[in-house]
Amino acid sequence: MGRYTLGKNKKFKRFIVQMIMVSLLVQNTVFCNKAKAMNVNQTDINIEDAGEVISNTPSVTPDSTSYPTNEPTLTVTPSIGPTDIPTVTETPTITLTPTPTPTITPTITPSVTPTPTNKPTATPTPTKTPDKFIPNTLKLMAKYDYVGNSVTNISIKKLSLRTLQNQIKNFGKLYGYGMPIKEYTEAMSNKWIDVTEYNKKPVKITIDISKTMDYKTYVDTLKKLSRYDGVYLYKIGKSTQGRDLYAVEIDVNSSVKKDIFMLTGQIHAREFAGGTFVVKEFVDLIQKAQTDKKTMDLLKKNKFVAVPIINVDGREALIKEPKKWTKGSELWKAYTNGTDGNRNFPGLQWGQVMKGYSRKSYIADKPGYSFYAGDYAGSNKETKAMMKWLYHYIVVEQATYFLDLHQQGSIIYAGKGWQTKQQESRSLNLRTKVMSILNSGYTYRKYSRVFEGTSYGLQGEGSSLTDYAISLAIGAKFSPASGFMVFTDKGKEYMLLEVKDLDTAKIKVKEANKKFAAITLEIGYGTSYLGNSTYTRNLLANEYRNYKFGELLKSLPIYSK
Ligand SMILES: [Zn+2]
Repeated sequence: MGRYTLGKNKKFKRFIVQMIMVSLLVQNTVFCNKAKAMNVNQTDINIEDAGEVISNTPSVTPDSTSYPTNEPTLTVTPSIGPTDIPTVTETPTITLTPTPTPTITPTITPSVTPTPTNKPTATPTPTKTPDKFIPNTLKLMAKYDYVGNSVTNISIKKLSLRTLQNQIKNFGKLYGYGMPIKEYTEAMSNKWIDVTEYNKKPVKITIDISKTMDYKTYVDTLKKLSRYDGVYLYKIGKSTQGRDLYAVEIDVNSSVKKDIFMLTGQIHAREFAGGTFVVKEFVDLIQKAQTDKKTMDLLKKNKFVAVPIINVDGREALIKEPKKWTKGSELWKAYTNGTDGNRNFPGLQWGQVMKGYSRKSYIADKPGYSFYAGDYAGSNKETKAMMKWLYHYIVVEQATYFLDLHQQGSIIYAGKGWQTKQQESRSLNLRTKVMSILNSGYTYRKYSRVFEGTSYGLQGEGSSLTDYAISLAIGAKFSPASGFMVFTDKGKEYMLLEVKDLDTAKIKVKEANKKFAAITLEIGYGTSYLGNSTYTRNLLANEYRNYKFGELLKSLPIYSK
């Protein structure tokens, strides 16, 4: 890899020495948090996401015996510490004088690609400078045809809702407009911008969940993280209000064909846990790997990729103006334009209501704090950025696991009723593993499973991140006619409500990723875990510690093969 032949060896050695020095310093300065027991009254438990919502009358029955029923009293021990310490602590760089580093002359293979050109160009400038380093992901992206491979190549132009409605009237109804092929093409052609800080020295980063991490601190943290060898940072699009959306990768140099592990957090504004937890997990993992061989071995066999915070605007809004973004007793959940990000994907189930069912009553008809699926499928900028991110790792790079982090209710969704049982079983297994890790800690309550009915997705719920991810993995493609994903077989397109369940379907659909599993994890329990109050942050810090969230990335991958 170019990156490793450009003198990084030298920097790396110097860095190792520094890390040893820093860790010696840190060991002496760890301060003990004093813990105080506190009673928390859990009220208003609202289980949400992945399509099923329980507000007052539960429509989803959690199967686990351990699922708490009557507003339990939680004993939590919030760590008490100084309040306004910035999240990212930068340890001053220790200058080791003198540094007797032997000069290692990097072996640079000048990759001079002959440019096949017909134009009689100016005198060729013989340059010795090596090509700019390009991360593996971007190399793969450069040569892949995202649009050509992901659309059905059957229909060409968009049909009106009325025409589509007529085509499927024997199966049910359509609500909501599809995504124009032009916008789909733009989304899938979006070029990521590499903003990895290649030439800056890594510094010690500390993430304290009990401190506020605003957008500036978040971006600053990701940039610092990207200074470590094998960490890459990309801008993958813009938010509704124009902030950059970031994707991060831990992809250390290795000759092994890696498993790929995907994480997303905070698509919902008030669900801070996912965003903060993913950042902490990545930061701790890469820093540990610098001195711990076992962790480095894990990184050599697994590539970890994440968009830690999807709803960057909503997070910032709730940090800066929480009152403005509270409707009644509800903190804002959607994007700031009132579209619920976890309903907006042009997945298989977009806008369909199966015959014999009616549209779920909680689905909103207009923008608001939650439950509005959008003006049309894929209408939000964030959705568009995530569509390419998901497609790239699931289809192009054949990812193994995907965890989408939400809040609340301590439950985990896995599998979709419309997948084959065999496909679904992979997600169910992933859920079992995640539950066993989380519940192995100090666990007053337990994380438990929740079942989704077989009609899930066909009651006008819109399409979530994991709905879209699973749609991609099982081989659905984007239909220019309908503006969302469909199945194809023998030159024909089929909407999900015509097929309902792949196990009983007459059509054959070729899987696009045969090992993919995805779950939706709802962190915490109750409304007190939402938002960014001091109280909430302390609850979440305890949740992370007690339920061993720090172990997830280390324990889940199948790295012992
Ligand atoms: Zn959510």
